[in-house]
Amino acid sequence: MGYANLRELQTALTTASDLASALQSAPTRQGADQLVDVLRQALTAASSLGAETGPTGCALHPGGAVDPLYGDPEDPLPPGYGKCLLCNDRRRRADAHHPHIRPHTRTHPRWRRRLSA
Ligand SMILES: [Zn+2]
Repeated sequence: MGYANLRELQTALTTASDLASALQSAPTRQGADQLVDVLRQALTAASSLGAETGPTGCALHPGGAVDPLYGDPEDPLPPGYGKCLLCNDRRRRADAHHPHIRPHTRTHPRWRRRLSA
């Protein structure tokens, strides 16, 4: 799908370039409209290219779910975590295998009380 959009963009830009290069003077209304149409096609194709990664912004899981904790100020994600829930789950599992690495250190309120007592 991304490749098709890229081809469409390239074709539209080439066509627009050919049309503009062939002009010897200011085009007629019809000629100008034709040029605008082709440039609009190029713009539409170019806009759809950026949407390829989807809401997760993940190249592996473009249609995946966004981590509900993403952007949560109360319980922020550890550094290195992205928006993709699938990738974050994989990171969480990897972190669980290495208990000495604790990127998500959140002290329970009860622990804090015990420590200060
Ligand atoms: Zn992912």
